[in-house]
Amino acid sequence: MLGLMQQWPLLCHKIIDHAAAQHSRREIVSRSIEGPIVRTTYEQVRERSLRVAARLAAEGFERGDRIATLAWNGARHIEAWYGIMGMGGVYHTLNPRLFPDQIAWIMNHAEDKALFVDLTFLPIVAKIAPLVKSLKKIVVLTDAAHMPAGAPAGAVPYEEWLAEAATGFEWLAMDENEACGMCYTSGTTGDPKGVVYSHRSNVLHAMMAALPDAMGVSSRDVILPVVPMFHANAWGLAQSAPMVGAKLVMPGGKMDGASIYELLDTEKVTFTAAVPTVWLMLLQYLEETGKKLPYLKKVVIGGSACPRAMTKKFQENYDVEVIHAWGMTEMSPLGSLGTQKPETMHLTGEAKLDMQEKQGFAPFGVEMKVTDDDNRELPHDGKTFGRLKVRGPAVAASYYGGAGQEQFDAEGWFDTGDVAHIDENGNMQITDRAKDVIKSGGEWISTITLENLAVGHPDIAEAAAIGIRHPKWDERPLIVAVAKPGKSPTRESLIAFMDGKIAKWWMPDDVVFVSEIPHTATGKIQKTTLREQFKDYRLPTE
Ligand code: ADP
Repeated sequence: MLGLMQQWPLLCHKIIDHAAAQHSRREIVSRSIEGPIVRTTYEQVRERSLRVAARLAAEGFERGDRIATLAWNGARHIEAWYGIMGMGGVYHTLNPRLFPDQIAWIMNHAEDKALFVDLTFLPIVAKIAPLVKSLKKIVVLTDAAHMPAGAPAGAVPYEEWLAEAATGFEWLAMDENEACGMCYTSGTTGDPKGVVYSHRSNVLHAMMAALPDAMGVSSRDVILPVVPMFHANAWGLAQSAPMVGAKLVMPGGKMDGASIYELLDTEKVTFTAAVPTVWLMLLQYLEETGKKLPYLKKVVIGGSACPRAMTKKFQENYDVEVIHAWGMTEMSPLGSLGTQKPETMHLTGEAKLDMQEKQGFAPFGVEMKVTDDDNRELPHDGKTFGRLKVRGPAVAASYYGGAGQEQFDAEGWFDTGDVAHIDENGNMQITDRAKDVIKSGGEWISTITLENLAVGHPDIAEAAAIGIRHPKWDERPLIVAVAKPGKSPTRESLIAFMDGKIAKWWMPDDVVFVSEIPHTATGKIQKTTLREQFKDYRLPTE
C-alpha cells in the first residue's frame, strides 16, 4: 500500500522560495569585493536568482551543465548558486587557494562550461581560462564600472548581464535526485575527487544541519558563515540560513580578526562557523584590543580538531558556546556535532572541556560505526579506536568518474579515512586521519591528542605532530611548533608541560620550532609536506 501524500520533490530552489515567502525582508549583508557593505533581502536574492537562471537558460546552458564559481561568501555568490540549481545546472565551487594548475585540472575533470568569478580572482582566471577547453562563458561578479581593463576576453560584468535577463522565469521541474552541486576534495593524496550533491541530499542536509542539537539555528539568528562556500558548501549554511529565515552576514574576502570582529559587532551576529585558524586570528585580536563579544552566542568549529584551549577561551573569556563539529566534503559536509545530551549536560569546567574535545554525535541522517581492519564493528567504550565509517542520504555513494571506489562497501558504508572511537553516549572522537597516525611499536599514537596538548602551552601558537622513522619503534613522534609572536618557548618547557598529561610512550621524542607550518587549501595542517620536509630528521632517541 502506498501513502496518499503529495509528491513534493526536495528541490533546492524551494528553499529560496520559502525564504522569500516567509522571511522576505530578512537581510543578507555582504562585505563586497568592491569595498562597501551591501544589503539585500531574501526576496531580492530570489528575484535575482531567477534572473541568473533565465539568463543561463537563454544562453543555451542546459540541465546537468556544470557551472563553476570562484568566489568569496557574498550575496551574489548565493544568487549564482540558486540560479544555477534552479535552471537544472550544477554549481561547482572552486577553491581559490589551490594552485591554478590544480584548479584547471579540476575544471577539466568536471567539464565546467561557465564560471562566475569575483574580481579578486581574475589573475587566476587569466591563467586557467586558456587551459579549460569546455569553458564558454565568464561572468565577473561586479558591475561594468568596476570591470578592470585586463579582464579576460569575453568576460561580462554580472550586474549588466543580469539586468538584461528576461523576467518571469519558472524554476525547472526536476527529479529530486538530479545533481545540483559539485565540490572536489582537496586531494592531500592522489588527484582531487569530485563529490556530486543532489537536490534531495542538499535539502535533507540543510534540515539536519539546522536541527536544535546540530547547529540549532532559527529566524531569530544572525549567521556569519566565515567558512567559505567553496569549503564543503559553507557547511550547509547557505541553505540552512534561508531555510530557517536567519539573517545572513557574508564576510567577502576579509577573514582577519579585525574585519570579522567588525561584522560580529555591527551586525549583532549570534552564530558563526569556521576552521580553528580563523578563530586563532579573532581571539588574538580580542586579546590585543580587550574587546568583547556581547551578541555572539554560538561558534561552530571544525574542519580540523578544535584545540581545548580555544574552546576554553571562547566559553570562559567571552561567554560564547563552542560546538565542535566534524564532517567532510563527502558528507555535504556535517557528520557530527558536539552539543550536549541530557547524559552530559550537567558537566562544567574541565569535565565539560573533556567532552568538547570530542567531535560529538551524529544527527538524524548520519549512521556511524567504527571497525577494525577486518570490518568488525568495535565497541562504543570511548577508547577502542578504528576506522570511522558512515552512511546516510547526504553521504556520497561514489565519486564523480568512479575514482576511489575502494572507500565504498557493498552495504553502503563509506570509509572516511579517519580513525576514531565512540563512547557509550554515541559521542565520537577523531584521533587521527588514518594516513597521519603515528605507529610506534605496533601501537597507534594520536597526533590530534599531541597537537591539542602542545597548543595548550601558553607560548605556542600552533603545533603539528608527525611520525619520524625510528630503528626500534618504527616511528616516534616529533612535534613541529610555531611560537606565539614575541615568545620563545623551549623544547624542555614543552616536554615538561606535556609530561604527565598523556601516556609516557606517547610523549614526543623531540620538538622543533619553525616560523610557519604549511596548510592545505581548506586550512588543515599539510602533513604530507611536513613529513617530506622532515624525512631525513634524526631523533635524539635513535
Ligand atoms: P579536504 O580533505 O578537502 O580538506 P574536508 O574539509 O572534507 O576536505 O576534510 C575532511 C576531513 O577533515 C575529515 O575527514 C577529518 O580528517 C578532518 N576533520 C574535519 N573536522 C574535524 C574535526 N573537528 N576534528 C578533527 N578532524 C576533522
